[in-house]
Amino acid sequence: MSRIPKVVITDFIAEPLDHERRVLDGHAEITALEAMCEEDLKGRIEDAEAIMVYHYFRFTRASIERLTNCKVIVRPGVGYDGVDIEAAREHGIPVCNVPDYGTEEVADSAIGMAISLSRGIHFLNSRLRRGVGDWNVDQAMPVPRLRGQVFGIIGCGRIGTATALRAKTFGFDVAFYDPYLPDGVEKALGIRRVNQLSELLGSSHVVSLHCPLTHETRSLIRKDELAQMREGSVIINTSRGGVVDTVSVVEALASGHLSGAGIDVLEQEPPAADSPVIAAWRNPDHPAHDRLLLNPHSAFYCEEGAEEFRTKGAQEVLRALLGQPLRNVVN
Ligand code: NAD
Repeated sequence: MSRIPKVVITDFIAEPLDHERRVLDGHAEITALEAMCEEDLKGRIEDAEAIMVYHYFRFTRASIERLTNCKVIVRPGVGYDGVDIEAAREHGIPVCNVPDYGTEEVADSAIGMAISLSRGIHFLNSRLRRGVGDWNVDQAMPVPRLRGQVFGIIGCGRIGTATALRAKTFGFDVAFYDPYLPDGVEKALGIRRVNQLSELLGSSHVVSLHCPLTHETRSLIRKDELAQMREGSVIINTSRGGVVDTVSVVEALASGHLSGAGIDVLEQEPPAADSPVIAAWRNPDHPAHDRLLLNPHSAFYCEEGAEEFRTKGAQEVLRALLGQPLRNVVN
């Protein structure tokens, strides 16, 4: 009798594995390793026929080279920068993501941050709570009208598009920079396309990042790029921490060059105890304190979405085990 295939979930998801078992029962045995670092995987993944890997650590060549019988590596999320997809390809292992479970939620969070910062909601709440200033509208001034302001999107794929459509309904003049999209996207969406990043940065009142973390986008927004942004503008990063130099964002807030920053993703997550970003955010006397909004890489999350990425991730595993065509191969 043939052995039942072993499927391993490396991190983040623990028992009960209801969603995965609903799909894989009868086809595979699933184990959640609850590893906190790649080292924890040693001796526990080698004979797996499918691996589901989340985001607590990078799944590197070292792990991939030890896999003897693996048919698929599934990253049940959108960004797959945490998996060495080239090493997997060299070893003939397809890597698949789940691209669509959180599109609306990330767009909702990006817009929520943008509106909260542009309308002064976060700033006023933060100052009044710690007893700064009078309880009247003078605190809010100046706040320009949103209608007609430029909302600039970097990377207009699924989430960028969902964000663009939301920004349009607020009356923003929406523009995007995305060198990889074919002509016509701007016409289909009824938004503007700009061909230079510097043009988008220099013209936008809000800049929202929605590109993946790649060799090209790592540190895309640093000191120089922030300096190109409009005086008093707002930056939103729900893409990946590595795309933006967040320390420089805090400096731009402190100098008054930027009026707000909404950051869901940091270069290191969770941040180090001595992170200057966290220090500024916690310190009520720091000039960036009231203008910096931080979230713990949670923009994707809602209960319905969690069920979706776990179920869709397991369905991709099942297709691999059954030798069926895979839906979302990224390598
Ligand atoms: P997508 O692939 O649909 O869109 C990404 C877009 O970025 C594409 O249109 C691509 O052409 C563009 N792009 C690539 N390189 C670029 C560059 N150098 N400059 C400008 N644009 C560039 O992906 P998506 O589903 O929209 O997700 C986007 C990113 O959001 C993911 O890669 C992931 O890192 C991040 N994300 C974050 C969360 C969260 O919880 N914060 C959740 C899901 C996804």
